[in-house]
Amino acid sequence: MKTVIFLGPPASGKGTQAARFSKMHGFLHFDMGKALREEAAGSSPLAEEIRSYTNAGRLVPNEAVRRLIQLMFAVNKERDIILDGFPRSMEQVGLLERLMAEAGRDLTAAVLVSLPESEIARRILNRRVCPVCGRVYNLVTMPPDSDEKCDDDGSPLEHRADDTEDVLNERLAVYKEQTQPIIGHYDSAGLLARVDGTAGVDDIGKQIEEVVFKA
Ligand code: AMP
Repeated sequence: MKTVIFLGPPASGKGTQAARFSKMHGFLHFDMGKALREEAAGSSPLAEEIRSYTNAGRLVPNEAVRRLIQLMFAVNKERDIILDGFPRSMEQVGLLERLMAEAGRDLTAAVLVSLPESEIARRILNRRVCPVCGRVYNLVTMPPDSDEKCDDDGSPLEHRADDTEDVLNERLAVYKEQTQPIIGHYDSAGLLARVDGTAGVDDIGKQIEEVVFKA
């Protein structure tokens, strides 16, 4: 069973690549940001607490994250898995190591999709999401066929609550301070593969296939 981490700054395209890869190769795509947004959709105190972090662009406390990962490993024992958006800090690297050992899994690779900062803001501010099926579009680089409607189900596309300039700055700061250090960790463990996020979707996809299937 393979377990692959997809890493990268906000809007690097790692989510698009994870969705593409999992569809083509039958991996489970576990998107931590999406799982947290689903948890945050209700009106429980936990949902409100999660929202206070996601809407501010800060990392949700590890306890909420740990439960989601543990449950996901427990119900997908026999599946290959892509972890998209987890881990995002050195503490979460340790947490993942413990949970993977419990689940009897070894890490196959950590794929870093890199993108220059100038490109990040342009992509984020143009990102739109289908509220019904979750498909992600970009009005500049991956627009829907008809004006701001989902190609799959026709729903009007939405702007994510945290895809604003203010929250983006906080998310970038969190990425630099907390997530970037984990790149060095996987690099020294010989598990890191870098792909260029400015290349075309299919090109990047091919680079990732090479990494995952040769590992
Ligand atoms: P994303 O959809 O990956 O851009 O994530 C959206 C938001 O969810 C982030 O800004 C964080 O508030 C939260 N989040 C996503 N992944 C994690 C994680 N691994 N740990 C804590 N919070 C996270």
